[in-house]
Amino acid sequence: MPVKKRTSQNILLSTALENFYGAAEEMGLDDDLVEILSRPERSLCVSLPVTMDDGSIRVFEGYRVQYSTALGPAKGGFRYHPNVDLEECEALGSLMTWKCSLAGIPYGGGKGGISCDPSELSMPEKERLTRTFAARVAPIVGEWTDIPAPDVNTGAQEMVWFMDTISKMRGRLEPGIVTGKPVSIWGSRGRNAATGVGVATCVMELLKTEGVDVKGARVIIQGFGNVGSHAALTMVKSGAKIVGVSDVTGGYYAPGGIDIRKAVEHVNANPKKTLEGFKGPGLNKIDGDDILTQETDVLAPCALEGAVNAKNAANIKARYIVEGANGPVTPEADEIVGEKGIMVVPDFLANSGGVIGSYFEWVQNLNGFFWTEEEYNHRLIPIMTDNFYRVWNYSREYGEKMRRAAFLVAIKRVADAVKMRGTFL
Ligand code: NAD
Repeated sequence: MPVKKRTSQNILLSTALENFYGAAEEMGLDDDLVEILSRPERSLCVSLPVTMDDGSIRVFEGYRVQYSTALGPAKGGFRYHPNVDLEECEALGSLMTWKCSLAGIPYGGGKGGISCDPSELSMPEKERLTRTFAARVAPIVGEWTDIPAPDVNTGAQEMVWFMDTISKMRGRLEPGIVTGKPVSIWGSRGRNAATGVGVATCVMELLKTEGVDVKGARVIIQGFGNVGSHAALTMVKSGAKIVGVSDVTGGYYAPGGIDIRKAVEHVNANPKKTLEGFKGPGLNKIDGDDILTQETDVLAPCALEGAVNAKNAANIKARYIVEGANGPVTPEADEIVGEKGIMVVPDFLANSGGVIGSYFEWVQNLNGFFWTEEEYNHRLIPIMTDNFYRVWNYSREYGEKMRRAAFLVAIKRVADAVKMRGTFL
């Protein structure tokens, strides 16, 4: 029977499916595996009646999709956003499946969320909503079945409410049921910096393998939040020269290099937590978008999706782009920079330090024994390095771009697991 290809009106899901079918065809994946891997294993839709502060009851819609558990428990965040629906969760769950596979951790992929505008909810309303969601998805989540995490508009507080609700329902503490908890409540030291440390590891290995001396190599980082600032701090420790940074307040460019520790101190001391007003030797304040097209060896977009796009791609002067953010290079821009010979390290490899960090939190929760930040990084960096070379080697061997190579490596690992585990009965 020929494969019956799925289609969707949802742009995220149709793109995810198209990419999957394209890769599956290229790698000659068996039709039955294509059928299996183009569908989620399990999807749960829940209705969530919540008592609002004024005494009225509103019913919200929530979702949890376990896209694949072939490699281990489903892993992926849950988000609060008006656009959340089942198909979006399916698409994001499939991306988590490939990301966890590529990261080499024993997890499948999933995603969930609630269709709501969290800016309209008070804290007590958010708490009741989160606890109702936890109770409704309780039958399918667990530390060996499905482990949620923070995502858009959810964070440490929502994770603690989720864990607390399930623990009370089950009559025993279930710390490993979610990751992204605060350090004081079964969270992990090192998690905060993990994604940036991972991005920096990819940059440094890339430079080494390309024969570029890391000492003095020029790097520009767009976005100076969690990912960008930790990536910058880690890179300067190895001798790289950060010549440009940017955030919502604009671009800061200094061809001679920026004192990153001072930049971080400035942001921490600024009540708005931005670079606004930051000054230094040879530092020029420029337009935020112009930072992307300055002279540099590496450009690491660590802010928003679509930062490098059809409008500015032709003007990028970097030799390498390492995607710290999710989807910062659009497909059109990817073609343009590819033609210019610029190599792109894709997001689901470069920013996978975050999900590897979640895995470390879960491992510590299962053991009830916590690591120091040094121990954490001591384990994170070798895994990131291995993953980088797995993709790099595939890309060299088969003449594929890094993005395609990463996708093929990731799909193959899941497909092999499905094949080996077989169908039930
Ligand atoms: P953050 O909110 O801590 O920081 C975002 C930074 O981007 C801020 O400095 C902000 O000022 C800046 N910014 C916003 N708009 C900008 C613009 N137009 N130009 C330049 N800078 C701009 O967020 P984060 O946690 O660092 O996440 C950044 C990206 O990385 C997102 O795409 C996120 O999905 C992705 N990501 C984050 C993690 C993680 O662990 N934090 C993991 C994987 C992927």
